Amino acid sequence: MAYKIADTCISCGACEAECPVSAISAGDGLYVIDANTCIDCGACANVCPVGAPAQE
Ligand code: SF4
Ligand code: SF4
Repeated sequence: MAYKIADTCISCGACEAECPVSAISAGDGLYVIDANTCIDCGACANVCPVGAPAQE
């Protein structure tokens, strides 16, 4: 299980710096999480203003 960013992401970038394993990067129109790197810590979900990251 990994977190995934929904298309409600507004590309604010807040989550990228919070990820302890640098699994988040800017994608095409929204930020994306590398599922193979994500350790399910939930930090991205805690800082996201629109609740875009969620556990799959
Ligand atoms: Fe990074 Fe944690 Fe979000 Fe996974 S759940 S992308 S490890 S901040
Ligand atoms: Fe997108 Fe939320 Fe991350 Fe901002 S914090 S880039 S809205 S997923």
